[in-house]
Amino acid sequence: MDLDIDTVRIARTRADCVLRPGEAFLGGGTSLYSEPVPAGVTGLVDLTGLGWEPWSVDGSGLRVSATCTLAELEVGPGSLGGAGTLRGPASAGPYRALGIVRECVGALSLSAKVARVATVGGNLALALPAGSMIGLFAALDARAVVWTPDGGSREVAVADLVTGAGVVALAPGEVLREVRVPGPVLGQRTVFRRASLTPTGRTAAMVTGRESKRGPRIVVTGSVSAPHALYAHDHDMLDRWLDWVGSDVGWYEDTHGSVAWRAAMTRRLAHEALEELGGAA
Ligand SMILES: Cc1cc2nc3c(=O)[nH]c(=O)nc-3n(C[C@H](O)[C@H](O)[C@H](O)COP(=O)(O)OP(=O)(O)OC[C@H]3O[C@@H](n4cnc5c(N)ncnc54)[C@H](O)[C@@H]3O)c2cc1C
Repeated sequence: MDLDIDTVRIARTRADCVLRPGEAFLGGGTSLYSEPVPAGVTGLVDLTGLGWEPWSVDGSGLRVSATCTLAELEVGPGSLGGAGTLRGPASAGPYRALGIVRECVGALSLSAKVARVATVGGNLALALPAGSMIGLFAALDARAVVWTPDGGSREVAVADLVTGAGVVALAPGEVLREVRVPGPVLGQRTVFRRASLTPTGRTAAMVTGRESKRGPRIVVTGSVSAPHALYAHDHDMLDRWLDWVGSDVGWYEDTHGSVAWRAAMTRRLAHEALEELGGAA
């Protein structure tokens, strides 16, 4: 742990979220406290002091606060979604879309101890290709609510929030407040697939998907530096799109998987996901 900073302020009100020179936001600190302090950062503003309700659900949909921990997400919305697609048939209940929450939390290479403090907002804002909250909430058509430093707020689709590896569409001083999943999405069927070099290794390719009126929605993360999504009407269309991703976007490469392996795994997982969502042959 490298804690070469001068101050930690605990935010209690929105006014406390206005950053002073050299300050950055602190979620659970599992990344910030495990890496050298980012250049120029001399102070942290702890968002967990705001006391936001971790999550809530009503007729308009699901809201998950940025400070909701991954453990809270798993036992809360994750339980509403039932057993999950890998462990049995997805529930047909009003929250069946949330059946992939547990798999998405499990896709992070975190111990239970880290998952108890790591936050959903931190995972999105960190914007790692292996950030499984990105694929989860992009598949659920979630919108991120962002507090702007002038006291206003704006919304952006989670699928558009992350624009590159470690690059997020947040201006300096903007706080990720929450993500909102629309009510009608909650009853839709979802699917999850993931590949890593070892069973507990970091995610190298992840495909999440959801049935929708526009056709099966397929979201690819992990093997690309930012999420990419398609309404795939059939397997040929999916193949053409994956060809385009490979040639025009490019597959991500690091120690967790080569380009060729990631490309092959993503194609396999994406076709499996489409098959499960009932895409035409
Ligand atoms: C052993 C280990 C394994 C890990 N495995 C993975 C993995 O598989 N995949 C993965 O993606 N990550 C992984 N991580 C990194 C990290 O733990 C997670 O991404 C975690 O979800 C980050 O959340 P946090 O709340 O701890 O973020 P923090 O460390 O508090 O913050 C991370 C970044 O997000 C910013 N931030 C936090 N909250 C907000 C907000 N509400 N608004 C604006 N900016 C904000 C911070 O300023 C900082 O830049 C791992 C970490 C460890 C220690």
